[in-house]
Amino acid sequence: MIAQNFEYSAPVTLKDALSRLADGTAKPLAGGMSLIPLMKLRLASPESLVDIGRLADLNYIREEKGALHIGATTTHYVVESSPLVRAKCPLLAEVASHIGDVQVRNMGTVGGSVAHADPAADYPAALFALEAKFKLISSQGERVVSAGDFFVDTFTTDLAPGEIVAEVTVPVEETSERASYQKVAQPASGFAIVGVAARVKVVNGKVAMARIGVTGLAGKAYRATNAEKALEGTAGTPGDVENAAKLVADGVEPNSDLFASAEYRAHLARIYTARALVLALARTA
Ligand code: FAD
Repeated sequence: MIAQNFEYSAPVTLKDALSRLADGTAKPLAGGMSLIPLMKLRLASPESLVDIGRLADLNYIREEKGALHIGATTTHYVVESSPLVRAKCPLLAEVASHIGDVQVRNMGTVGGSVAHADPAADYPAALFALEAKFKLISSQGERVVSAGDFFVDTFTTDLAPGEIVAEVTVPVEETSERASYQKVAQPASGFAIVGVAARVKVVNGKVAMARIGVTGLAGKAYRATNAEKALEGTAGTPGDVENAAKLVADGVEPNSDLFASAEYRAHLARIYTARALVLALARTA
């Protein structure tokens, strides 16, 4: 199908882009990897697109005060291959490398992925585990929200009309901390049937901190806090990991589709949580 007619503009400054988006009628276009297919299927019919994908102001990765600041239009491929991200926040580079295929990773952007809030997208698992912050800007100003507040529901975020994601901030990995991402991919698209990002800190032989972000299982990505609490304070033995992983689907209603029933998805989530934790713990050794 062909998309409905729409206006297109490609402002060269962020200020101009924000003023074109201000009244909430135009939609931002970044990599187009999710929005254009939706428009071609006429599941989205915006009257106007403001192309922010080429704005240099939103395309950067920098380290400041123990955190990496990643501009919204940074592509998945750049995140995956950046020496800075690989060295300072390897979980994010690992997760980016799992997204779709190389064409999608060359076009799709961090900001577009999080703003789209697909419940099977890869980044949100890592962004929950990393307790990421999102800088949102509009012509009215800016604010910072946590991953927990940003992801509201399936394809729904806390973004207000006229507001865009400008930046995602993640902490630099500490010396005693390691992470891993384990995913069961949908065979055609690569989206996560279940994806689990685990991040652990081990101090004096004990798990001092565990963070577990889960995608694909439920209507939105989430942090599995019961599983995290079960692991913290233990020695992180295979038995400790198994006990924690059993709690990963606590309180969530698993999705069900052609590829995986709710029961099978919850089973996969437990197995992949254990695998992600085992690998993260092994990396701390
Ligand atoms: P766009 O498509 O341009 O925009 C998506 C939505 O976000 C639109 O509503 C747009 O208005 C809005 N938007 C864009 N940027 C911003 C911003 N900065 N602030 C506010 N709103 C914004 N994803 C995965 O996670 N894992 C996969 O395995 C995977 N496989 C894929 C396979 C295929 C074949 C395709 C086509 C896509 C796949 N994706 C996958 C999705 C891909 O990661 C997209 O790049 C991403 O979801 C959207 O990013 P984008 O930059 O292309 O955004």
